[in-house]
Amino acid sequence: AAKERGKGRQVTYQPCMDQRGAEQSRIAAELRVALDEGQLRVFYQPIVRLDDGRPVGVEALVRWQHPERGMIRPDLFIPAAERTGLIVPVGQWVLAEACRQAAQWRREFGPDALQYVSVNVSPRQLREAGFAGRLREVLRSAGLAPANLMVEVTETAVFDGGSALDELREVQRFGVQVALDDFGTGHSSLGLLRTCPVDVLKVDKSFVDRVTEAGEHSVIAEALIGISDGLRLRAVAEGVETAEQAEALRRLGYRYAQGYHYGRPVPADELTSLTAALR
Ligand code: C2E
Ligand code: MG
Ligand code: MG
Ligand code: MG
Repeated sequence: AAKERGKGRQVTYQPCMDQRGAEQSRIAAELRVALDEGQLRVFYQPIVRLDDGRPVGVEALVRWQHPERGMIRPDLFIPAAERTGLIVPVGQWVLAEACRQAAQWRREFGPDALQYVSVNVSPRQLREAGFAGRLREVLRSAGLAPANLMVEVTETAVFDGGSALDELREVQRFGVQVALDDFGTGHSSLGLLRTCPVDVLKVDKSFVDRVTEAGEHSVIAEALIGISDGLRLRAVAEGVETAEQAEALRRLGYRYAQGYHYGRPVPADELTSLTAALR
C-alpha cells in the first residue's frame, strides 16, 4: 500500500514541479522582453536620521510596469530572475539607473540632500566574475563618487564563502559602502562579521515590528544595535511603520531608519523629501 501511495504521489508531484518550472521560465522570458522594452522602473524609498527625520539616503527598489498586469513587485519576479541568471542584466540595469538618478539629484539639490543611493545586489550578481570592475564602470559613466553608493547584500551571499566575498572586498576597497540586508534573518556568523567587508547592518523589519512590546520582543532589536555599535558599524532599522516604533528605536540607540512611517517607495519624480531637505 505504501508503494501504491508513493507511486500515486509521484504522479501528482511531477506535473506540479514541471508547472512551477514552466511558470518560472515564462516569467523569465517575459522579463527579458520587459528589460529590452523598458518596462522596468526604479522606485526610491528614503532612509532617514531618527533624531530629525531628515533623509540621508535612498534605497532603489525595482518594479515591473507590465503593460497588462500593472505594477509588479520584485518578490514576484526576482526569484525567477535569480534562477535563470537574468538577474545579472536586470541588476546591472538597476545599478546604472540608480547611479544616474543619484548623480542627477546631487547636482540638482546639492550633496546635503542625498548622501547615498543604496542598491540591492543578488548573490548571483555578486558571484559573476568581474562584478566589482563593472560597478566601477557604472559609477564612472554615471559621474557618481563611490562613497555615494551603497550595495545591499544578503547574509547568504556574504557567509557562504566563494568569490562573492572577494568581489565585495574589492567593492569596499574602492570606496563603495556595503550593507548587510535583512540582518538577523539569515545565518550570519557573528564571529565572521568582525572581519567582513560590511559597513552597515540593515536590521530586519521582523525585529522592528515588535520593538514597542515589553520584554523578550524588543530584546533582539536591542542586542542587534549592541552588536552594530560594538563592531563600529552603522545600523538602519527597516520597516518602521509608526511613530511609537521610531521612538522606541531611538531610545535603544538606533540612529537611522527606513519605512512607511517616513515614506513609501515612489518614482524618482515623487520623492519630494529630498527637495524638502533644502528648506
Ligand atoms: P528589501 O531590500 O529588504 O527591501 C525592503 C522591502 O520592504 C521593500 O519591498 C519595501 O517596499 C518594503 N518596505 C519598506 N518599508 C516598509 C514598511 O514600513 N512596511 C512594509 N510592510 N514594507 C516596507 P519591495 O520593494 O517589494 O522589495 C522586496 C525585495 O525585493 C527587497 O527587499 C529586495 O530583497 C528585493 N529587490 C528589490 N529591488 C531589487 C533589485 O533591484 N535587485 C535585487 N536583487 N533585489 C531587489
Ligand atoms: Mg534592501
Ligand atoms: Mg531589507
Ligand atoms: Mg527586508
